[in-house]
Amino acid sequence: VLFLFVVCNFMLSTFLDPGKYPKAHEVKDNNAPMYKNVEIEGTSVSLKWCRTCKMYRPPRTTHCNECNYCVEIFDHHCPWVNNCIGRRNYRYFLQFLWLLIMHMLFLFSLLVVFIWQHRHDLKASNIIIAFCILIVIGLLCWPITGLAMFHVMLVSRGRT
Ligand SMILES: [Zn+2]
Ligand SMILES: [Zn+2]
Repeated sequence: VLFLFVVCNFMLSTFLDPGKYPKAHEVKDNNAPMYKNVEIEGTSVSLKWCRTCKMYRPPRTTHCNECNYCVEIFDHHCPWVNNCIGRRNYRYFLQFLWLLIMHMLFLFSLLVVFIWQHRHDLKASNIIIAFCILIVIGLLCWPITGLAMFHVMLVSRGRT
Protein backbone atom coordinates (compact mmCIF):
# COMPACT_ATOMS: atom_id res chain seq x y z
CA VAL A 1 0.00 0.00 0.00
CA LEU A 2 2.84 2.37 0.93
CA PHE A 3 4.65 1.53 -2.30
CA LEU A 4 1.48 2.30 -4.30
CA PHE A 5 1.16 5.68 -2.58
CA VAL A 6 4.83 6.41 -3.37
CA VAL A 7 4.34 5.51 -7.05
CA CYS A 8 1.07 7.50 -7.31
CA ASN A 9 2.66 10.65 -5.87
CA PHE A 10 5.72 10.19 -8.07
CA MET A 11 3.45 9.92 -11.15
CA LEU A 12 1.46 13.00 -10.09
CA SER A 13 4.67 15.03 -9.62
CA THR A 14 5.92 13.85 -13.00
CA PHE A 15 2.84 14.16 -15.19
CA LEU A 16 0.84 17.01 -13.64
CA ASP A 17 1.19 20.48 -15.10
CA PRO A 18 3.34 22.38 -12.56
CA GLY A 19 1.59 25.63 -13.45
CA LYS A 20 2.93 26.55 -16.90
CA TYR A 21 1.84 29.84 -18.41
CA PRO A 22 0.90 29.63 -22.08
CA LYS A 23 3.29 31.49 -24.37
CA ALA A 24 2.05 34.56 -26.23
CA HIS A 25 2.10 34.05 -29.99
CA GLU A 26 1.81 37.65 -31.08
CA VAL A 27 3.55 40.57 -29.49
CA LYS A 28 1.88 43.92 -29.89
CA ASP A 29 4.71 45.87 -28.33
CA ASN A 30 8.08 44.69 -29.58
CA ASN A 31 10.00 47.24 -27.57
CA ALA A 32 8.57 46.28 -24.20
CA PRO A 33 10.78 47.46 -21.32
CA MET A 34 12.58 44.75 -19.37
CA TYR A 35 10.79 45.60 -16.12
CA LYS A 36 7.35 46.91 -15.30
CA ASN A 37 6.17 48.07 -11.90
CA VAL A 38 2.63 47.20 -10.89
CA GLU A 39 0.70 47.78 -7.71
CA ILE A 40 -0.57 44.60 -6.02
CA GLU A 41 -2.60 45.11 -2.84
CA GLY A 42 -0.83 48.38 -2.12
CA THR A 43 2.68 47.02 -2.75
CA SER A 44 4.75 47.97 -5.76
CA VAL A 45 5.99 44.82 -7.49
CA SER A 46 8.55 44.69 -10.28
CA LEU A 47 7.62 42.29 -13.08
CA LYS A 48 10.27 41.03 -15.48
CA TRP A 49 9.68 40.53 -19.19
CA CYS A 50 10.20 36.96 -20.40
CA ARG A 51 11.76 37.02 -23.87
CA THR A 52 10.76 33.42 -24.62
CA CYS A 53 7.15 33.52 -23.40
CA LYS A 54 6.73 37.17 -24.44
CA MET A 55 4.94 38.33 -21.31
CA TYR A 56 5.60 39.98 -17.97
CA ARG A 57 6.13 37.26 -15.39
CA PRO A 58 3.65 37.42 -12.50
CA PRO A 59 5.20 37.49 -9.00
CA ARG A 60 6.97 34.24 -7.97
CA THR A 61 6.99 33.01 -11.56
CA THR A 62 10.27 31.84 -13.08
CA HIS A 63 11.17 30.68 -16.55
CA CYS A 64 12.45 27.11 -16.58
CA ASN A 65 15.11 26.55 -19.21
CA GLU A 66 14.60 22.77 -19.19
CA CYS A 67 10.83 22.93 -19.86
CA ASN A 68 11.01 26.27 -21.71
CA TYR A 69 7.94 27.64 -19.95
CA CYS A 70 7.25 30.19 -17.27
CA VAL A 71 6.05 28.31 -14.19
CA GLU A 72 3.81 29.78 -11.49
CA ILE A 73 5.24 29.66 -7.93
CA PHE A 74 8.29 27.92 -9.33
CA ASP A 75 10.27 25.88 -6.82
CA HIS A 76 12.83 24.03 -8.92
CA HIS A 77 13.21 21.81 -11.94
CA CYS A 78 13.52 18.28 -10.59
CA PRO A 79 15.64 15.94 -12.75
CA TRP A 80 14.41 12.91 -10.76
CA VAL A 81 10.76 13.43 -11.64
CA ASN A 82 11.73 15.11 -14.95
CA ASN A 83 9.35 18.00 -14.37
CA CYS A 84 9.21 21.43 -12.83
CA ILE A 85 7.98 21.62 -9.27
CA GLY A 86 5.56 24.51 -9.02
CA ARG A 87 2.16 25.62 -7.86
CA ARG A 88 0.14 22.62 -9.05
CA ASN A 89 2.40 19.67 -8.24
CA TYR A 90 4.37 20.88 -5.22
CA ARG A 91 2.10 19.08 -2.70
CA TYR A 92 2.52 15.78 -4.57
CA PHE A 93 6.29 16.24 -4.68
CA LEU A 94 6.36 16.78 -0.92
CA GLN A 95 4.05 13.82 -0.31
CA PHE A 96 6.27 11.72 -2.58
CA LEU A 97 9.37 12.63 -0.53
CA TRP A 98 7.79 11.82 2.84
CA LEU A 99 6.09 8.64 1.67
CA LEU A 100 9.39 7.54 0.12
CA ILE A 101 11.16 8.06 3.47
CA MET A 102 8.42 6.10 5.29
CA HIS A 103 8.72 3.33 2.69
CA MET A 104 12.50 3.22 3.10
CA LEU A 105 12.29 3.06 6.91
CA PHE A 106 9.63 0.33 6.74
CA LEU A 107 11.70 -1.72 4.30
CA PHE A 108 14.85 -1.16 6.36
CA SER A 109 13.13 -2.48 9.52
CA LEU A 110 11.75 -5.51 7.68
CA LEU A 111 15.18 -6.33 6.26
CA VAL A 112 16.86 -6.08 9.68
CA VAL A 113 14.27 -8.48 11.14
CA PHE A 114 14.65 -10.80 8.14
CA ILE A 115 18.45 -10.88 8.44
CA TRP A 116 18.22 -11.41 12.22
CA GLN A 117 15.88 -14.36 11.74
CA HIS A 118 18.35 -15.91 9.26
CA ARG A 119 21.52 -14.96 11.15
CA HIS A 120 22.76 -18.58 11.18
CA ASP A 121 22.84 -18.74 7.38
CA LEU A 122 24.39 -15.41 6.32
CA LYS A 123 25.85 -16.81 3.08
CA ALA A 124 22.45 -17.60 1.54
CA SER A 125 21.76 -15.60 -1.64
CA ASN A 126 18.56 -13.99 -0.30
CA ILE A 127 20.46 -12.74 2.77
CA ILE A 128 23.18 -11.23 0.55
CA ILE A 129 20.47 -9.49 -1.53
CA ALA A 130 18.85 -8.24 1.71
CA PHE A 131 22.24 -6.81 2.78
CA CYS A 132 22.66 -5.05 -0.59
CA ILE A 133 19.20 -3.42 -0.32
CA LEU A 134 20.01 -2.44 3.27
CA ILE A 135 23.17 -0.64 2.09
CA VAL A 136 21.33 1.13 -0.76
CA ILE A 137 18.64 2.37 1.68
CA GLY A 138 21.31 3.36 4.22
CA LEU A 139 23.04 5.51 1.58
CA LEU A 140 19.96 7.09 -0.04
CA CYS A 141 17.94 7.75 3.11
CA TRP A 142 20.12 10.66 4.28
CA PRO A 143 20.04 12.98 1.24
CA ILE A 144 16.30 12.33 0.73
CA THR A 145 15.54 13.05 4.41
CA GLY A 146 17.66 16.20 4.22
CA LEU A 147 15.76 17.36 1.13
CA ALA A 148 12.38 16.62 2.75
CA MET A 149 13.35 18.52 5.94
CA PHE A 150 14.59 21.45 3.83
CA HIS A 151 11.21 21.59 2.04
CA VAL A 152 9.35 21.52 5.37
CA MET A 153 11.41 24.56 6.41
CA LEU A 154 10.55 26.29 3.09
CA VAL A 155 6.82 25.54 3.47
CA SER A 156 6.81 26.79 7.08
CA ARG A 157 8.31 30.09 5.85
CA GLY A 158 6.11 30.29 2.77
CA ARG A 159 9.14 30.29 0.48
CA THR A 160 10.27 28.46 -2.61
ZN1 LIG B 1 9.08 32.31 -19.86
ZN1 LIG C 1 11.27 22.65 -15.68
